[in-house]
Amino acid sequence: MAGGIPTSLHGIYGIRPDPMANLRFDNSFLGALPGDPDHRNSVREVRGALWSEVMPTLVAAPKLLAHSPEMAAILGFSEEEVVSAEFAQLFAGNRLVDGMRPYASNYGGHQFGQWAGQLGDGRAITLGTVIGTDGAGWELQLKGAGKTPYSRHADGRAVLRSSVREFLCSEAMHHLGIPTTRALSLVTTGEDVLRDMFYDGHPELEPGAVVCRVAPSFLRFGHFELPSARGEIELLRTLVDYTIDHHFPELKSASPEHRVGDWFAEICRRTARLVAGWMRVGFVHGVLNTDNMSILGLTIDYGPYGWIDDYDPDFTPNTTDAQGRRYRFGWQPRVAYWNLTQLARALSPLFDDVAPLQAGLDAFAATYAEAERGNIAGKLGLAECRDDDLVLMADLQSWMHAAETDMTIVFRTLSDIPADALTADAFADAHYDAAKRDAAAERLQAWLQRYRQRIADDPLDAASRRVRMRAVNPKYILRNWLAQRAIERAQQGDASGIGELLDVMRHPYDDQPGNEEFAGKRPEWARDRAGCSMLSCSS
Ligand code: AMP
Ligand code: MG
Repeated sequence: MAGGIPTSLHGIYGIRPDPMANLRFDNSFLGALPGDPDHRNSVREVRGALWSEVMPTLVAAPKLLAHSPEMAAILGFSEEEVVSAEFAQLFAGNRLVDGMRPYASNYGGHQFGQWAGQLGDGRAITLGTVIGTDGAGWELQLKGAGKTPYSRHADGRAVLRSSVREFLCSEAMHHLGIPTTRALSLVTTGEDVLRDMFYDGHPELEPGAVVCRVAPSFLRFGHFELPSARGEIELLRTLVDYTIDHHFPELKSASPEHRVGDWFAEICRRTARLVAGWMRVGFVHGVLNTDNMSILGLTIDYGPYGWIDDYDPDFTPNTTDAQGRRYRFGWQPRVAYWNLTQLARALSPLFDDVAPLQAGLDAFAATYAEAERGNIAGKLGLAECRDDDLVLMADLQSWMHAAETDMTIVFRTLSDIPADALTADAFADAHYDAAKRDAAAERLQAWLQRYRQRIADDPLDAASRRVRMRAVNPKYILRNWLAQRAIERAQQGDASGIGELLDVMRHPYDDQPGNEEFAGKRPEWARDRAGCSMLSCSS
């Protein structure tokens, strides 16, 4: 009996195990980097510091709506612990456990091409970094946990609809094999939040929620841009050293004069592979400001993101971006590059010569080109991508665009039907507009002809080709209308649609008998519906 009540007796005596008792924290971020000496929770400019201590604001009635079983397991929570009242309290920000030292971090950023100055965690509060069962450090961050010194004019809260979207998409992206921040839990607060969803002067009360998101680090390009813009070069250097030591251990042995340059090149390569991942599956981030770019190359900050239904490189899901369409699907690689040039500029005070920074940017271009070729080979089922295949892919995309055809269904169809059996009829379920389909019918025939010839000249056998294609062409993506349907159900009190959708998105490349509906093209009702086609940032 030494050491307290054995676990087996917890049930007998009705004593619930404390889900947090075994959490181990590593608060090295706070120890290694300067913090804000001012402990008041009031909006201000914070100079010379990378974080401010701040407590989450208490909420009325936390209730767990959904959780990620994979993430819970990594953090060491049993399913019993996850459903306990303590868990919902903790991940709504209503209680702390030993070792937690909540803080908001300080960063800036370029928004829509303009330097915006200090932004910071305005509605995200880090609880601490937990050592997971995998031995790795996982930062737990509550999004929507109340005001912080960085909240500027806003309320520090998040609404249910945007929280469902962040929760689901974080996990969907992970299961697609694309680097991303993760999500542990989705909790409703029992409080309403006022939002002007359409920015039309008609704010409404909506249910509030908190997502606990999880990542090795939430450091963004903007964390480095802010001290640089302020001339706080020693602070910048300290942050760079910390980041390399803690998150890029492979660079520890690099010689001091190459270390930061090698690190920047690695960020460039990771960012290139990240964006190539988005382009492969049809993900549009929607707000690729530099404060929404992870220094680890993760997808971060799920706001008004969207997924491509009918192929359209000009699609942006973000109403705020509707005019300039800076963050349109097809521009993501060049926007990522522009963002990296801003990071390079921010890091330049650490260099006597900008050549290593230019080399990093060149590494982005080279890595992206290689990853794009990988995408083409995988998506079309080729052993390798030859120069002509770039044109073959561009022509397929141009047909999908002209014919208003569903990207995901087209590639999954190509994966499942051998090239010599492919006819236009195979794509019958992928069209959104019969007239456009018919007008582009000859282009499809011509393309199929070329594709068959190309396949005949490829060394892969049919079975290996199919396996290769099905591993990169998902059947299930988190289409906007699917998320919106789950959100509307949850707003009416039935959260089960969130778990259902998460379960489907956990196996995006598998056929899931009985779940075909989740792989269908966007229904007509969703074409111009708010939440399904365009979204605002007002989350
Ligand atoms: P985002 O558009 O979500 O990338 O946010 C840009 C900046 O606005 C960040 O500094 C956020 O912390 C801040 N922000 C967004 N929404 C809120 C909110 N409801 N309350 C406080 N700050 C917010
Ligand atoms: Mg953001």
